[in-house]
Amino acid sequence: MKILLCFGTRPEAIKMAPVYHALKEQKSFEVLVCVTAQHREMLDQVLHFFEMVPDYDLNLMQANQTLNQLSASILSAIDAVLLDAKPNLVLVHGDTTTAAMVALAAFHLGIQVGHVEAGLRSFNKQAPFPEEINRQFTSKIADIHFTPTTLATQNLLNEGIASKDVFQTGNTVIDALLWTSAKIKEEQYSHPEIEVLKKTIPLHKKMVLVTGHRRENYGEGFENVCSALLTIAKRDDVSIVYPVHLNPNVQDVVNQKLAHQENIYLIAPVSYPAFVWLMQHSFLILTDSGGIQEEAPTLGKPVLVTRSVSERPEGIAAGFSTLVGTDKNKIIETIHSILDDFTGFEKITNPYGDGNAAQQIVDSLVKKDR
Ligand code: UDP
Repeated sequence: MKILLCFGTRPEAIKMAPVYHALKEQKSFEVLVCVTAQHREMLDQVLHFFEMVPDYDLNLMQANQTLNQLSASILSAIDAVLLDAKPNLVLVHGDTTTAAMVALAAFHLGIQVGHVEAGLRSFNKQAPFPEEINRQFTSKIADIHFTPTTLATQNLLNEGIASKDVFQTGNTVIDALLWTSAKIKEEQYSHPEIEVLKKTIPLHKKMVLVTGHRRENYGEGFENVCSALLTIAKRDDVSIVYPVHLNPNVQDVVNQKLAHQENIYLIAPVSYPAFVWLMQHSFLILTDSGGIQEEAPTLGKPVLVTRSVSERPEGIAAGFSTLVGTDKNKIIETIHSILDDFTGFEKITNPYGDGNAAQQIVDSLVKKDR
C-alpha cells in the first residue's frame, strides 16, 4: 500500500512525525510526505528535528493570504501531487485548512482518506474561525478515523460514522512528547536553543509559559491577555516566558504591549525540543493551543486555556485545564491562585494518550490492508 502523509503546520508535523516513523518501520508500506507549508519556518523546525524530508513541498505560505486564497491554492496544487504519487491512502491531521482541502482533493480523485486526531468537537461553528468546520468537513470525507479519546470516538459514532471505520489510538502528540523528552535527557544531547534558554531565564523563579495563536483571540483577546501578564509580572517570584507566534496579528500586539518589561521574556517560537524543555521547567502554562493542553498532563503542568470553549474537554474534566477565556481579571486571579497553591496538579494519567498511538495507527492500517 502506498500512503501519502500530507500536512502544513507545526502542530500537524509534530503529531504526524511519530506516524511517519512508525509507518516507515512497517516495510510493507511505501510512505511519501507532502507539505503544503501553510506555516513555513515553524514547520521547517519540526521537519528538521524529526528528520522528515518531504517528497513534495508546495511552499504555499504567503503573507496576509485569506483562508479562501489558501484553500484555493492547496486544492489546486495538491491535485498534481495526488496524480503523480497515486497513493492508495492519504493521511491528513486534525483541523487545519490543509487537512480539509487535501481530503476534498483526494475524494475528488477517488483516493481513500485517513484522518488522524479525528472526532474532536467544540460544536462551535462560529464564522470565520475555521477549525471546527475543518474538523467536521474532514470527518465527512474520511474513510478511516483515528481518534484520541473515548469522547472523540463517541462524537463520530453520534454522527453516523460506522464503528468499523473508527480506531481509538490515543493522540500521537504524546508519542512525540515522550520521544523528545527522552532525547533531551540523553547525556550527550545538547541543543543550542536550550543552552541559550538556560542562560537567559532565571530558573529559580516560577515560570509562567505563554503561547497564543488563535484567530478568535486576535485584537481584544490578545490585548487582554497581555494586560493580565503585565500585572502578573509585578511578582518578584515569577518569570513570564512567551515564545511569540510569527503571525503579525499576534506579533504586533504582544511586542507593543510586553516588550522590555521586567520579568517578561519575549522570544521567537522555539524548536520542539526547546519547547518541551520549557514546558518541563514551567510552573504553569497559559495558552490557547490545543496540542499543549494534550501534552501538559504528561508533564504535570496545569494549563489555563485562553478560550471560552475547548474541543478537548477531557483535561478540563480531569481538573487539569481551566478555561479562563480572555477575561483579564479571571486570568490574573487564576494564575495567582495556582502560583500560591499547586495542590491537585501532581502528575495524572493523561486522558489523551500513553505514547503508543502511532503504532496503533499502523496496526489498524495493516489490519485494513489484509
Ligand atoms: N510548540 C513548539 N514551539 C513553540 C510553541 C509550541 O514546538 O514555540 C509546540 C507545542 O509543544 C505543541 C505545538 O507546538 O506540540 C502546538 O502548536 P500550536 O499551539 O501552534 O497549535 P495547536 O496545538 O493549537 O494546533
